[in-house]
Amino acid sequence: MPPMARPRGAQARADAVRALLAELYPDVMCALDHTNPYELLAATILSAQCTDERVNMVTPRLFARYPTPADLAAADPEAVETIVKSTGFFRAKTRSLLGMATALEVRFGGEVPTELDDLVTVPGVGRKTGNVVRSVAFDLPGLPVDTHVGRLARRLKLTSETDPVKVELELNGLVPPAERGRFSLRLIEHGRRVCDARKPRCGDCVLAAICPSAGDVVGVKAAVKQAAVKQAGGRARPV
Ligand code: SF4
Repeated sequence: MPPMARPRGAQARADAVRALLAELYPDVMCALDHTNPYELLAATILSAQCTDERVNMVTPRLFARYPTPADLAAADPEAVETIVKSTGFFRAKTRSLLGMATALEVRFGGEVPTELDDLVTVPGVGRKTGNVVRSVAFDLPGLPVDTHVGRLARRLKLTSETDPVKVELELNGLVPPAERGRFSLRLIEHGRRVCDARKPRCGDCVLAAICPSAGDVVGVKAAVKQAAVKQAGGRARPV
């Protein structure tokens, strides 16, 4: 691919990021194992503060024992707690799982709703989980904002917001509806592999040429500047 001219403005940068990450991660997929929207919803609830790998170790047993929302709604909470214990916060997660299953049964005819406004009324489901379900299970527009998405969006200066809902709404204005889910998954992948929270590997990053934060995320440029100021006998600000 020929070198890319530095895009000006958030929209041009978002387009460039989208193209480069699509090339780097063409077959990106949700890492939570599932076979239907109900299973994805349950797995996503369990993934809070937990790795996808750990969730995938737990869900086969959970789904074998409670294959439908009706089964889970009627479950003994202690039996569910035992199954999901290793994912952490197991009491709260069990409450969410049973509340979610009951809500699906009572209010949505045993089905996972597709509208975000409905999804966020289900216990344990916020906008992030709702957008995961919409984009992955239903192939509908949805841009889940987790810690990786928020961090990369700010480093790439696609937003200056820190509130995930505001980040999502701002990114929605920059990414075509059909691309939002995959864009989120690709940012997550890149955040895990390259743009680490504490030690981003800008030298290995395909976005370095267009990223306004390249080389400056951990204060590299600032530290160099301080050293120069110190050498000149001036006062340096903390990095
Ligand atoms: S250039 Fe550095 S800060 Fe920018 S996206 Fe890549 S790793 Fe992250």
